[in-house]
Amino acid sequence: MSDGSGGSDGTRAGTGGEADRRPSGRVDVCVIGSGPAGALVAATLARRGRDVVVLEAGRRFDPAERLRQMERSIRPGGGSVWEMGGARDAFTSPGERRYPLNAARVKGVGGSTLHWQGMVMRLHELDFERRTREGVADDWPIGYDDLAPYYARAERELGVAGAVDDPFAPPRDGPFPMPAFPPSYGDSLFADACERLGVAMHSVGNARNSEAYDGRGPCVGYGTCKPVCPSGAKYTAEVHVAEAEAEGARVVDRAAVQRLEHGDSGEVVEAAVYATPDGEEHRQEARRFVVACGGVETPRLLLLSASDRHPDGLANSSGLVGRYFMDHLFAGVGGRLDEPTRQNHVGFITSECHQFYDDPGRATRGIPGTDADVGSIKLEFLNYAGPSPVEMALGAEEWGDDLLSVLREAYGNEIAMGALVGQLPRRENRVALDRSRTDDHGNPVPAIHWRIDDRTKRTIERANEIQRAILSELGVEITWTVGPENTGPAFHHMGTTRMGTDPEESVVDSTLRTHDLDNCWIASSGVFVTSGAMNPTLTIAALALRVADHVDETL
Ligand SMILES: Cc1cc2nc3c(=O)[nH]c(=O)nc-3n(C[C@H](O)[C@H](O)[C@H](O)COP(=O)(O)OP(=O)(O)OC[C@H]3O[C@@H](n4cnc5c(N)ncnc54)[C@H](O)[C@@H]3O)c2cc1C
Ligand code: SF4
Repeated sequence: MSDGSGGSDGTRAGTGGEADRRPSGRVDVCVIGSGPAGALVAATLARRGRDVVVLEAGRRFDPAERLRQMERSIRPGGGSVWEMGGARDAFTSPGERRYPLNAARVKGVGGSTLHWQGMVMRLHELDFERRTREGVADDWPIGYDDLAPYYARAERELGVAGAVDDPFAPPRDGPFPMPAFPPSYGDSLFADACERLGVAMHSVGNARNSEAYDGRGPCVGYGTCKPVCPSGAKYTAEVHVAEAEAEGARVVDRAAVQRLEHGDSGEVVEAAVYATPDGEEHRQEARRFVVACGGVETPRLLLLSASDRHPDGLANSSGLVGRYFMDHLFAGVGGRLDEPTRQNHVGFITSECHQFYDDPGRATRGIPGTDADVGSIKLEFLNYAGPSPVEMALGAEEWGDDLLSVLREAYGNEIAMGALVGQLPRRENRVALDRSRTDDHGNPVPAIHWRIDDRTKRTIERANEIQRAILSELGVEITWTVGPENTGPAFHHMGTTRMGTDPEESVVDSTLRTHDLDNCWIASSGVFVTSGAMNPTLTIAALALRVADHVDETL
């Protein structure tokens, strides 16, 4: 470790207010944020012998508490088990659509992976070339081939259970680190209907252990993966935080970075100024900085770091910091079947269909095509349609035999499909600062300006059409649809610090270094140029490993 006041095991920050949160001396790398992006950067650089300090705004949650958190999470009215909300997390949502930001993130050591579902898949080659191939959005400055080796490394780091059975997947060199979870009972119900319609089902990549892996045990089927896995089978970024620390990095919790300060030239960041619970402000100096605060807080921190030299915020000479905010939208159809569907026995998705990803308008044997302009669709066969008997019982007003008959009547026949649909990057969708409202430190809060465009709405309708065809073929009495009017976000914040070759059209270059600052990189889905329709975290992890390589090369 470096020669600062912190840095040994004895001074490592813990959960309590008594931890030593004073800065270390000038270190090699200061990473801001300990979600999967920050934790992977920190662990990779620490393994290579670099002096690393991680500053994390949230606190450490004790793994020994997970069972209690799980119990709390299934009780009605239990609130956020990850303590989101309140002054620290204040935000506004002045756009056309309200964005439920605090349901969509966690601030704590491990970031949003504390709460996530753990579905991990690679983007398709097409996602990197939407402008060239489809004439929409923009191309990334890197292609799928650049990321393929990092995707393979990311799958090993996170521990992904999967099978090479997806005929629509991009090329890959080898198998997954662990075998896929077997298809659920619900999947077996869908199988015949999909076969008749010419719809392919295949496994899903899951960042949860199907067998013992990396010192963690296999999934034991609590079924509460989201918001909390008590067994440790689901990957959280705490895995890489622990590894970073074991390799000598220092991770300081409850150290919310207020702003980045640059040197006289305005071209390098000198220090991250952070606040601690005792009301102190400290400066952590470093040779390199990696901002990994997620897709909303990363642009906010850059905007909060405005100076005389950079009056519109750091790394913002393009004026694009915060712009092109994207999320995936949910589309779903569900109903009841005249036979048991065994829902909520499995807490995650075991089968998907990526057939409508590259070619969403395609016809199948049983589903008519469309030539409407629509985007990628990722179809999901859900295993948790309708509430579980436990959830129903905990929320019920009846007792004893009356409760039993309510449960018998309501549970058993629900079935449903979901889908993710991508959004095109649009300049007007953005994260900005709302100066009329401040957080617990007096900083302007993030304002999410979010609107869903017509092409996205058409894509959701197309997803519903395919879902209805499959459920009808199965004989389901359809009772609900989540369509373009009542859709919601999938909690994947993308696009707000986009990557590109032209400094006037992007915030970071193809190595994810900011165009404006020589020693500052961004590891986040904020750098995505397009959203695709795949859950983003495997791509975030692959990019973080790549950032670590680039930072390491410059040290
Ligand atoms: C309910 C839910 C389900 C999800 N399911 C999936 C899924 O199945 N598959 C998938 O791919 N993705 C999923 N996601 C998304 C996934 O969790 C995120 O993509 C991922 O966690 C982002 O990683 P990150 O490291 O960029 O940011 P985060 O995980 O958001 O971590 C950022 C960290 O930075 C810290 N921070 C922020 N500002 C500051 C500051 N100023 N100073 C210091 N620290 C700061 C935060 O406290 C946080 O800990 C889900 C998310 C949610 C909420
Ligand atoms: S089903 Fe598996 S991954 Fe999900 S909470 Fe239970 S043990 Fe964890």
